[in-house]
Amino acid sequence: MKSSKKIILSVALAIPLQRLFDYLPPKGATLAELQVGMRIIVPFAKSTKIGLILEIKTDTDIDCQKLKTAEAIIDSIPLLSAQDLKLLYWAQKYYHHAIGDVFMSAFPTALRKGKSSELKKSCYYQLTAAGYELEEHELKKAPKQLALLQYLKFQQVALSPEAIAEAFSAWRPALKALLEKQLVKETDHTQQHAASITKQKPLKANDEQQLAIQRISANLSRFSVYLLDGVTGSGKTEVYLQVIQQVLAKQQQVLVLLPEITLTPQLEARFKQRFNVAIETYHSRHSETQRKNAWLKMQKGSSAILLGTRSALLTPMPNLGLIVLDEEHDASFKQQEGFRFSARDVAIVRAKMLNIPIVLGSATPSLESLYNVTQQRYQLLRLAKRAGGATPPSLSLLDVRNQVLQEGLSPPLIREIQKTLAKNEQVLLFLNRRGFAPTLICHGCGWVAQCSRCDANLVIHYQQQSLRCHHCASEQPLMKQCPNCQSQELKPLGLGTERVENALSYLFPQHKAVRLDRDSTQRKGVLEQHLEAINQGKVDIILGTQMLAKGHHFPNVTLAVLLDVDSGLFSIDYHAPERLAQLIIQVAGRAGRAEKKGRVIMQTRQPEHPLLNTLIHQGYAAFAQAALVERKLAELPPYSYQALLRANAHEEAAPLDFLQEVIKLAELHNPAGVFLLGPVAAPMAKRIGQFRFQLLLQHKQRKHLHLLLKALLPLISQLKQARKVRWSLDIDPIDLY
Ligand code: ADP
Ligand code: ZN
Ligand code: ZN
Repeated sequence: MKSSKKIILSVALAIPLQRLFDYLPPKGATLAELQVGMRIIVPFAKSTKIGLILEIKTDTDIDCQKLKTAEAIIDSIPLLSAQDLKLLYWAQKYYHHAIGDVFMSAFPTALRKGKSSELKKSCYYQLTAAGYELEEHELKKAPKQLALLQYLKFQQVALSPEAIAEAFSAWRPALKALLEKQLVKETDHTQQHAASITKQKPLKANDEQQLAIQRISANLSRFSVYLLDGVTGSGKTEVYLQVIQQVLAKQQQVLVLLPEITLTPQLEARFKQRFNVAIETYHSRHSETQRKNAWLKMQKGSSAILLGTRSALLTPMPNLGLIVLDEEHDASFKQQEGFRFSARDVAIVRAKMLNIPIVLGSATPSLESLYNVTQQRYQLLRLAKRAGGATPPSLSLLDVRNQVLQEGLSPPLIREIQKTLAKNEQVLLFLNRRGFAPTLICHGCGWVAQCSRCDANLVIHYQQQSLRCHHCASEQPLMKQCPNCQSQELKPLGLGTERVENALSYLFPQHKAVRLDRDSTQRKGVLEQHLEAINQGKVDIILGTQMLAKGHHFPNVTLAVLLDVDSGLFSIDYHAPERLAQLIIQVAGRAGRAEKKGRVIMQTRQPEHPLLNTLIHQGYAAFAQAALVERKLAELPPYSYQALLRANAHEEAAPLDFLQEVIKLAELHNPAGVFLLGPVAAPMAKRIGQFRFQLLLQHKQRKHLHLLLKALLPLISQLKQARKVRWSLDIDPIDLY
């Protein structure tokens, strides 16, 4: 029996089910206290969960007698606006992901756990009029007070205790004295009524920058996607800063999204030096509380700029006026587990819904974005020259066939490195493989050390004397004897950064080398220390992985080397050539940024390879064009749309059975002929003890792909075979692993 006119709340909970849950309001709650977008505590199973109210309604399919009563409302005002909810509904529909998971992902962890959404009333310090007018000599007996006073004067905005602590140690007594002398006062907001939003004059833009800035600024109150295609060092960041300035002048907020690795303290400092507004940062290196505070300051409109990574995308901003997404080609914008969204694509939808511009920047734009330019969906803005007048680096291939390599370094390469070092210039060596060597092989019987849980060889880590799997966490001591034939002749095969580091110490004993990879920079602060040493010229050779390719500027590097490009040439994933080309150009971008010209050498056994040659002789744009032609011929994205259904289980037959059932169902609901490829074993068929299979769905029209998925997904969840596997759907997959 349904009772009438009872108030019922539909609540989103972060669980992997495609449904909302109905509850009665907490005892004593009045209608006025209940609003969509507020968090709520509800009983669930034998415990409680934090959820989000998505609907307030008066009837339900469930017998009201059976409805549970919510425990408490957490927020006094909604945390998500109608606009925010609209975007989340769109994302839920597009990615076909569990509704509660999608909605709860808008919150930082602390708020997901139910922490208060009140910001602690903060206290800031600023100079009084007397403080501004004070003559320096009046404080000459109190140098600490003077230093603090001058710092506050220079900063122009009111500073938080945290900000003061960043610049001074043991500053409290000095502050107390200044407060007592009424040279400094407390205030509850950072913004002094600053005459200007900038602290520092913008650089004088060159012609290309000027054009880009003008084009974007001319249409600030309309949706438009701009692709700012600018070589490394061409001054893209300066373009962002000058456009952002205009948006700030309209009292609007700005969201700047970056890959994790490029969100460096240097970039943050550059924004803070330029602007007189409150700037928040949001990334995984911050604590839960820091992220919550940044989120709330944006959500309440009290801060103006948010610099963040993928996870900052859904932060509510009541006055958002511009989105900038730098390094738009970067794979880290795609979330690879759970709610698999593309921060770039959702950011574009967000801009469209708000009718504001979005700027995508890259030195190596993704093929999809370049395709969207040809379709006139995006406007292309080019910066072809390096801003400081530096010349672009020259790229060349070094054929290493028939050469005797010393730990991966060929004799001509060693000579080039020596020549560069002799001129007191730095060398950068890139190798995308950690550890000493990727394989341990027995010379006696051919046995190879393999992970028992994954389809992968164990990697030798010599310094730790261990064998490690880079796919699961398994690790074992490095053995001295073959477990198969007891031979002592165990040999490392292949090349890792640790092995090259060893070689550098005897090939160039006079020169200081540092290795930057996930292993060598695990301890907090080590990376920063190394970067500092590099910038001070205390390091001659920089060796590293992916970590080196982005974000960092090494002005004295004039030779950049990719020790092994071939490993990127042979992959069954059609994205691989694009990734490799982007990587090469990004590494090249590290070389010769200042007045000295840079060179890039790539060691290869494939010197005739067409991709490498197009890239080297004609540049990235020509490569991208050629790659798009190939994609078109093969009807691959962006000329078609894909979804990848993955399934895994401990039992080998289960995922296969499941996907075969899915195909049977799909065939019943597939009038448009969506192409079904599979089921096939995943490229890595076993991982962490689970067997993995996948089914690729593809169609030339997005609509047909999504119609099929919409019909199919509820049926898939009902399959009895679904209970024996873990499965997930990846819309617009960017890698097929
Ligand atoms: P990108 O983001 O494209 O890599 P940046 O904006 O970091 O480039 O600029 C590279 C360097 O050139 C920086 O040191 C920057 O200060 C400088 N630069 C940028 N624009 C100008 C300009 N118009 N005049 C002089 N120097 C500039
Ligand atoms: Zn053996
Ligand atoms: Zn493993």
